Amino acid sequence: MGAKRGSRTYRGLGIAPGVAVGRVKVMDVAHFPAQVPSYTIAEGDKAREIERFRGACTQAREDLNALADKVEVQLGRREADLVRPQALMVEDPAFLAEVEEIIIGEHKNAEAAVTEVAQRFEKLIAAMDDLYLRERSTDVRDAGRRILGNLLFVEGGPAVSLTEPCIVVASHLVPSLAVRLEREMVRGLATEHGGYTSHAAILARAFGIPAVTGLVGITDEVTDGETLVVNGSRGTATVRPTTASLRTSTRLARQHATDRRRILAESSEPAVTRDGVRVVVQANVGRPEEIDLALEYHADGIGLYRTEFEYLTDPALPSEETLYEHYARAAGAFPEGGVTIRVLDIGGDKFPPSVPLAHEDNPFMGLRGLRLLLARAEELMLPQLRAIIRAAAHGPISVMYPMVTGVEDLMAARKAFARAAAELGEPNVSIEQGVMVEVPSCVHMLGEMLRRGGFASVGTNDLVQYVLAADRNSERMADAYDPFHPAVIRILDNIRCACRDLDRPVSVCGEVTSDPHFLPMLLGLGYRTLSVNVGALAYVKHSVRGLSLADCEALAQLTLRADTAQRVHRTVRRFARAPGPGPLGSET
Ligand code: PEP
Ligand code: MG
Repeated sequence: MGAKRGSRTYRGLGIAPGVAVGRVKVMDVAHFPAQVPSYTIAEGDKAREIERFRGACTQAREDLNALADKVEVQLGRREADLVRPQALMVEDPAFLAEVEEIIIGEHKNAEAAVTEVAQRFEKLIAAMDDLYLRERSTDVRDAGRRILGNLLFVEGGPAVSLTEPCIVVASHLVPSLAVRLEREMVRGLATEHGGYTSHAAILARAFGIPAVTGLVGITDEVTDGETLVVNGSRGTATVRPTTASLRTSTRLARQHATDRRRILAESSEPAVTRDGVRVVVQANVGRPEEIDLALEYHADGIGLYRTEFEYLTDPALPSEETLYEHYARAAGAFPEGGVTIRVLDIGGDKFPPSVPLAHEDNPFMGLRGLRLLLARAEELMLPQLRAIIRAAAHGPISVMYPMVTGVEDLMAARKAFARAAAELGEPNVSIEQGVMVEVPSCVHMLGEMLRRGGFASVGTNDLVQYVLAADRNSERMADAYDPFHPAVIRILDNIRCACRDLDRPVSVCGEVTSDPHFLPMLLGLGYRTLSVNVGALAYVKHSVRGLSLADCEALAQLTLRADTAQRVHRTVRRFARAPGPGPLGSET
């Protein structure tokens, strides 16, 4: 958009700390022209394909309108008017009708149909006599690109292969794209959209990749090969930095790497508070590399094994055998701490290509997690449960159900488990089954569920979004999505008390466990087992060693009395600044 200027700093939301300097690689469909997939769709899949197309258009329209609004505020109306025609193009009835006709009449997939119609429109407009209209042909191309980007990157995007270390710039870093990124090749991430607990952000933190989101317009500003500085601690991205700023950023990047190495070097030491309380620090893992990191950083076991990886990377459903091999390897690697496998949690924002799902206006409230597994038990849940039961022969394993809403869900899940065990001829297999506490109803029914045995693990990433009605994936909801809200603190206290009264094990596995400001509250509320982002393992242990439980308990009591999030934040900040070794404050 517009002529390229000098240095420019974007302000967004830091989602993984640290500073990275490198060359840009834009992950945008325009850079994969040869990879737009083209295939024939079955008669029964047409409605779904139309839904995908319409969903991608809606998203493109929202993005373009947001971009135009931002440009208007920052640069003025005339500049914003350059963007608005693209938004109109995405709504153009002739364009929409032609694409849908191709999908229905020629059985083509949405990506192929969009490419064909966008190219035809572009040629038609480029051939017009009127200069103004001729210039609109680039709008058609951009609008088509955006729709394609949404189609490709939201559901089973193209394989991403990077040949040299770079800073990835993308519109949305959705899970299907995030799982394909190679760790060694990505120095930093800069995206237009995504929240702190989006799965891409979780992955960036796991791999220690500095990342910033909320950088609206950046994909249009940068081109491949340009220098970009990403400061994930400050939430900024600087395009074409000046020599002075480049020097400072390079120094900060080095400093960050040195600090990181120092903290990692102490990771084999246990996490014991200054007053002698041992805290179990387990790892959250999803990709195979994360299991290696959990071992390297001396995790006390795996408290959350996200099992979506194989489903998001393969076009076909993984076989029971493949799952069994992966789970057995993990179980064998942690003979002491054990491994808690969370059964498949898809829907929401994770859409594996092998599990076609109808479009939903509100997928986080739709067919997701356990609900979906139970609805498709034969195909999805039973093979996975059989693989888990078989893998338990190789090490201590427990199983955990995501998005449980109450007793009925848990009983249905246990019934499926019993069936899988019976199918394997092991009806009495002893594997603990737990619930992830992620939905408000689950909090209220926890006592009734735990009376039937098992354990609880608090998934704050989802719990916060469902308690506060704030999308975890939206950078625009970053203020509303506040784990420090007093309601969240009180709920965490209720959960802990319910588990203590019934003497059932409980842990927390959401991203709050890795937040140095949240950690003392968790300890003060009585939590002694945390499962943390693998990239934060060493940091969390380091923080625990600097804390006294007595202080944490006093802090928790203060925050439980707070009536606003602001008061909680203030109390927590004051605690972090208190004298003594104290917790590890926020970085750089
Ligand atoms: C959570 O919701 O807190 C959680 C750990 O699960 P996920 O982030 O995979 O939804
Ligand atoms: Mg969750």
